[in-house]
Amino acid sequence: MDYSENVLKLQPSATIAVSTLAKKLAAEGRDIINLGAGEPDFPTPPWVSSAGVEAIQAGQTRYTPAAGTPALRAAVGEYMAGGTAHSTDPQRIVVTAGAKQALFNACFCLFGPGDDVLIGSPYWTSYPEIVNLARARPVPVFGNEDRGFKLSPDDLEAAYTPAVKGLIISSPSNPSGAVYTAEELAAIADWCKTRGVVVISDEIYREIYFGSEGLRAPGLLDLPAAGLGTVVIVNGLSKSFAMTGWRIGFSWADPDLTKKMSALQSHVSSNASTPSQLAALRALTKPDLASATRSEMVAAFRRRRDLVMGLFDELAPRCGYVRPEGAFYLYFRVDALFDGTYGSSADVCTGLLEEVGVAVVPGSAFGDDRYARMSIASSDAELEEGVRRMARVLGG
Ligand code: PMP
Ligand code: GLU
Repeated sequence: MDYSENVLKLQPSATIAVSTLAKKLAAEGRDIINLGAGEPDFPTPPWVSSAGVEAIQAGQTRYTPAAGTPALRAAVGEYMAGGTAHSTDPQRIVVTAGAKQALFNACFCLFGPGDDVLIGSPYWTSYPEIVNLARARPVPVFGNEDRGFKLSPDDLEAAYTPAVKGLIISSPSNPSGAVYTAEELAAIADWCKTRGVVVISDEIYREIYFGSEGLRAPGLLDLPAAGLGTVVIVNGLSKSFAMTGWRIGFSWADPDLTKKMSALQSHVSSNASTPSQLAALRALTKPDLASATRSEMVAAFRRRRDLVMGLFDELAPRCGYVRPEGAFYLYFRVDALFDGTYGSSADVCTGLLEEVGVAVVPGSAFGDDRYARMSIASSDAELEEGVRRMARVLGG
C-alpha cells in the first residue's frame, strides 16, 4: 500500500503494544505479571462514575460544543489556574478525548514542515510520533542523568537552532518519575520566552507527587505571569481520577490558540464524550472528595515506590534507576545485561516476558535503549512477585 507521507514514519504506541501482548498471553493461560500498563489499578471513584451513569440515564447523550460544556470548561479553568497569577477564563480551555488529543491539537496547530520541536528525554513514547504527524521534526534532548535527566537552559541552548519552535516536557515525567522544581521550571520558561520557543507542558501526573504530602507537583502556572511566553498546559483526569477509559483531557492556552485548537477538534472528533464530561464536572467540583481520593492513591503509589526501590537495591543492584518523585513508574537500567545474550532493551524485555512472565516496556520506546520501564500501578503483592521474578534475569 502506498501510504501518505503523513504516516510514513508512524509506529503503533509501544506502551500500549506491550500491555496488549501481556493481556493476550494472560488470556491464553500464561502466568503473566503485567507491569507494562501505564494506568492506575484503582477503579474510578464511585462518586465520579455515578455522575456519568446519571448523565446517560437523564438523556445527556447529545453533542456539546466541540471545546466542551461551558460548565466543565469553567471548572477546568479553575482547576488549572485557580489560586495562581494566571487567568481561569474558560475561553482558554479545550476539553479533549484524553490528554493525548490535547497534545495532538497543540502540536498540529503550532508546528509544521521545517519546524523542530525539542523533546525532554527520556520522553513519553507518543511525543515524537505526534510531532511527526504534524510533519515537524522531533529533536530529543537529554538532561544530565544524575539529575534524573531533567533539562537545564544550558541543555536547551546547546540544542537550539533557529528551526526550533517548541519544547515538550512532562513533569512528573513518564517514564522517569523525575519532577522539576518551580525554580527549574522558571529557568526553562525563561529560556523559552527569550528564544521565542513555545512550551507544551504535560502535567498529567501532577497530582501523583511524592514530595510534600497533599501538594501537587510544581507546574508552569505556579510561575508569575511575566515569566511565561507562549505555553500550552496539558492535563486530564486519566491518572488523577483513575479515568483512563473515560477519555477526558484538557488544555490551557491563550484564547486565540484555544479557538484554533477547538476548530481543529470540531473537524477531527467534535466534543469529548458527553457523559464523560458530566462525570469530569463532578470530579472537579467536589474538592473534599477529590482530595480524599487523591491522598489514598498517592499514599499507595508512594508505598509501592519505596517497596520496589528496596527490592531493586537488594535483588538487582547492578540495575541503577531514577528515583521517582512522582508518576507511577520505575525507570531502571538494563544495559549491564548487554553481554551477548541480550543486545538491546527490547531483547531484555522479551527475555523477561518469555523467561519469567513479566511485562515491562523497553527503554527504546522512550529514547534510551539502556533502560526499561516498569509500572508500579499494581498491587503490592504483584509488584513484589514481579520484581523477584525479574531479578532472576536482572540480578547477578
Ligand atoms: N501524557 C503522558 C505523559 C502519559 O503518560 C499519558 C498516558 N497515556 C498521556 C499523556 C495520555 O493520557 P490520556 O489517557 O488522558 O490520553
Ligand atoms: N501513558 C500510559 C503509558 O505510558 C498509557 C499508554 C499510552 O497511552 O501510551 O503506558
